[in-house]
Amino acid sequence: MRLSQFFLPTLKEDPKEAQIVSHRLMLRAGMIQQSSAGIYSWLPLGHRVLKNIENIVREEQNRAGALEILMPTLQPADLWRESGRYDDYGKEMLRITDRHDRDMLYGPTNEEQVTDIFRSHVKSYKNLPLNLYHIQWKFRDEVRPRFGIMRGREFLMKDAYSFDLDYEGSKIAYNNMFVAYLKTFARLGIKAIPLRADTGPIGGDLSHEFIVLADTGESEVFYHKDLLTLDTPTEAAYSPDQLQSIVDEWTGYYAAADDMHDAATCDVAAGDLITRRGIEVGHIFHFGDKYSKAMGASVAGPDGKETLVSMGSYGIGVSRLVGGIIEASHDENGIVWPASVAPFDVGLINLKSGDDACDAACEDFYGKLISAGADVLYDETSGRAGEKFAKMDLIGLPWQATIGPRGVKAGVVEVKNRASGDKQELSLDDALQLLVG
Ligand code: ATP
Ligand code: MG
Repeated sequence: MRLSQFFLPTLKEDPKEAQIVSHRLMLRAGMIQQSSAGIYSWLPLGHRVLKNIENIVREEQNRAGALEILMPTLQPADLWRESGRYDDYGKEMLRITDRHDRDMLYGPTNEEQVTDIFRSHVKSYKNLPLNLYHIQWKFRDEVRPRFGIMRGREFLMKDAYSFDLDYEGSKIAYNNMFVAYLKTFARLGIKAIPLRADTGPIGGDLSHEFIVLADTGESEVFYHKDLLTLDTPTEAAYSPDQLQSIVDEWTGYYAAADDMHDAATCDVAAGDLITRRGIEVGHIFHFGDKYSKAMGASVAGPDGKETLVSMGSYGIGVSRLVGGIIEASHDENGIVWPASVAPFDVGLINLKSGDDACDAACEDFYGKLISAGADVLYDETSGRAGEKFAKMDLIGLPWQATIGPRGVKAGVVEVKNRASGDKQELSLDDALQLLVG
């Protein structure tokens, strides 16, 4: 992609409305534009990152055996009347009336909708276990939308729903998602730690929030320091026993957010207990027959008896993750994207556009990078060198390659690693090898 043909409305000044670094950097890097409070348009650079995150989330859900569907954003109120949540949900739900005076709503979540799909088609335990997920926009009319896309009103969520015959089956489904989440967040280049979360009237211990540590996080978190040293599971698949032992390992250390933390009962030695702030990027929850009972979702069990299915739900805040990753990975010059989600792999800078030799060397290198499969943003504009460097640092591509008149004479390109700041002068071949080899 040539910068002159791209749409990258960067800002030089810090926007006044942004209180936290991710919001500031997303606006400055031309990633998003506010439409109204808590509702944003995604501009090309931001959209690329959003889609990269979405695809990693999707791949790991598919690998874990969940099946992708797509449910609508608008749902009929009647389904929510069945579960009793139409009245309970309160003002966060955006309620809409269609031209025939039918009550509709913009879905804040999809338990009712997916339970309706399930009960219409699945009648036997033989079709279990089943896990259906989608990646779809949600709307919650938050009282205080803030921090840009981190607490939006319209936001993109991956939500999966598992159906099993009994609690034992449900627990395997839960553990399977727990492990898929560990893998997903590792691939996104972030360290997300699972915290025990409130199960409310459902009870039990099957509810965990996944938190990215960041100073600007909305919740205070307390955890044993060794939790951060655990290795992420890497095998493609695990048996139910293996899943259980991974979950046991990760939940064996103390970890709780402020709402669950109790200094009196926390038995971690003071020197081992770390207190930080964190951003909730995922939440998994087993709720048993809450919806299957209210909505009549049952199957014939092996003994022929009708049994209510046991369910769980598993959310990931896909759009919130864009901000969460920036909070966890930036410096004073801008964003530092983990390679897996970066909008481009390489930023190529032509230090003297219009100079025949420079243009030719850049075009040649650009072509070679692209043929080798790299996603390149090529700055061939006539801006000043300082501005070009600042812009590349701001948008945070993992690698920068700079070619100027001096380099052209010497046959070298300067390659900079955005994360470490390390620069090296390499021959074109060696640079190509490093960037795409
Ligand atoms: P929070 O406690 O942050 O309000 P929640 O517990 O209401 O979130 P869930 O219902 O568990 O959220 O939704 C699953 C995921 O969706 C959350 O873990 C979070 O990453 C994301 N999410 C929830 N609300 C928002 C929002 N207003 N804006 C962006 N992402 C959100
Ligand atoms: Mg939650």
